[in-house]
Amino acid sequence: MKIYVSVDMEGISGIVLPEQLRRAEPFYEEGRRLLSQEVKTVVESLVQAGADEIIVKDAHGTGFNLLTETLHPKARYLLGATPIDRRFAGLDATFDGALLIGYHAMWGTSFAVRDHTMTATSWQTVSLNGSAVGEIALDSLLFGLYGVPVLLVSGDDKACVEAQQVLPGVAVYETKVGFGRHAAVIKPPLFVHSESELPRAIFDAIATRREREPLTLKGPYELEIRYASTDVADARYYDGIHAIRRDGQSVVYKENDLLSLLSHM
Ligand SMILES: [Zn+2]
Repeated sequence: MKIYVSVDMEGISGIVLPEQLRRAEPFYEEGRRLLSQEVKTVVESLVQAGADEIIVKDAHGTGFNLLTETLHPKARYLLGATPIDRRFAGLDATFDGALLIGYHAMWGTSFAVRDHTMTATSWQTVSLNGSAVGEIALDSLLFGLYGVPVLLVSGDDKACVEAQQVLPGVAVYETKVGFGRHAAVIKPPLFVHSESELPRAIFDAIATRREREPLTLKGPYELEIRYASTDVADARYYDGIHAIRRDGQSVVYKENDLLSLLSHM
C-alpha cells in the first residue's frame, strides 16, 4: 500500500503562534520539533496499518521545516520549494490515498488558528469556479488529478469542518479548538500521539480507504484571487484572456486545464 502525506505546520498540535512558524523566530525550533514528532507518529501509524511506501511532503513555507535527523526511516521525504506541477513530486496513480496533516482553515475563517490561503500576508480570498477554496480543497484537487483520494485531514476544529465540507465523509482528527487567529485550546502533543488518538484515526482512515473518492472538478476553470494590496496585483502580468485584472486587488485567471490554472498561483 502506497500513501502520500502532505504536512503543513499551522494545524500541528501545540502550534498556535506565528513565532513557531517562521525561520529565525524565537519559537521556530520548538515548532519544528512539534512538527517532526507528529510526522513520526503519522509514519509509524501508517507502517503499522500496512503501508509499505510512504512519501511525506513538507508543505509549509520553504518546505524545509522537518528535523531530518529525527525522520522515520520507513518513509521518504520531499523537502524544499516545488512548483505546482511538482508540489507532490513522486505522486502517481499507483498511490492508494493521501493524508493532509497539520492543515488550517481558509482565509477569513472565524476563530481558526492562522487562517489563510497559500500566503498569510499577500493574499485574501481565493475562489475556484465561483466557490471560495482553501488549501484543503486545492491540495485535494491536485491529488485528484492522479485519481488519489484524501483519506484523512488533521488540524484545528475549523480545518476539520472545512475538510468535511470539501470531502464529505472524510476522516478528520482535531488537534485543537481555535478561539482566535492566535489562540486555541490544544490537545497536548503527548495526548495526540497516544494510541487511541491520531494513530487510531489513521488506522480507521486506512481501513475505510476504499470508500473514499478522489476530488475532481470539471473545467473550464476560473480562479479569482483577491490580493491583500494593490501592489501584489500590480506586480502581475495580464493578457486579458487568461489573466484579467478585475479591480485594484482582484484578478481572475481562466484556463481549460487545472494545472495550468493553478500555475498562476
Ligand atoms: Zn503552512
